[in-house]
Amino acid sequence: MYKNRERENPVFANINLQGPCNYKCFFCLGKDIKCLKSNYLNVHFKKWKNFDNYLDICKKNNIKKIYLTGQNTDPLLYKYLLELIEYLKSKDFIVGIRTNGLLAIEKKKELESLNGTISYSVHSLNDETNLKITEVKKTINLNDINKFINRNYRIGIVVNRYNKNEIIDMIKELSSNKNIRYIQLRGCATDNRYDELKEDIDAYKEISNYIKNNFKFLRNFYKAEIYDVYGVEVTLWKTVETTINSFNYFTEGIISYDYFVVEGYEKCKKEM
Ligand code: SF4
Repeated sequence: MYKNRERENPVFANINLQGPCNYKCFFCLGKDIKCLKSNYLNVHFKKWKNFDNYLDICKKNNIKKIYLTGQNTDPLLYKYLLELIEYLKSKDFIVGIRTNGLLAIEKKKELESLNGTISYSVHSLNDETNLKITEVKKTINLNDINKFINRNYRIGIVVNRYNKNEIIDMIKELSSNKNIRYIQLRGCATDNRYDELKEDIDAYKEISNYIKNNFKFLRNFYKAEIYDVYGVEVTLWKTVETTINSFNYFTEGIISYDYFVVEGYEKCKKEM
């Protein structure tokens, strides 16, 4: 598969938590990484191998933004999350998070302590569709989140075979939510399951073409096109084509300088 390897200097870094997830998305990138099995959700970050070394590397490379995320888990499940956020802020990082938001209200304090972007992954507003995608019927309730957590956020939607016919209506419905800064539409990312996910990758192409043909183009962001869809900015994100770059840390102690998460992890794992 084509991958744009001409990358700019890294502008952000990820901390990839590892452990079980409270969703079981069929397209989860964690399924691509067979050896990503260890659970570090209850391990204090002071015990993570190479962690401070990673932060020093980020500093040396002028990286200011750090995202708490996970390729096979949700960062809100991390036991020492609040302490970790405070630690990173004390080192002058801007700390954001990518989460499925299921625990958002429970973790209100943690989310309000972030000084960077909050991104909620919302793949459907319909419980039945969400069940097909994530094996969990409950969808996150953004109205409740708005009432309890005084922050704006980004919405990330992975277009796939189950939600493709809902996407445009979903954006229309979300456009009235004034806490949404913008919506990022993504395709399923994979290195090892291309045939299995082809229908989903095609669904993303279909929806992005529909948006390109029917809505107003605004600008590019690292080669990703941004459109005005019912008054909300929608970014058509293509992980393989964008020129943005980042470093990745996995809580078992792996530091990867690769933007492509799966191959970066697998390469480092072999060298361990
Ligand atoms: S929420 Fe994220 S980490 Fe959890 S199963 Fe879905 S894609 Fe994987």
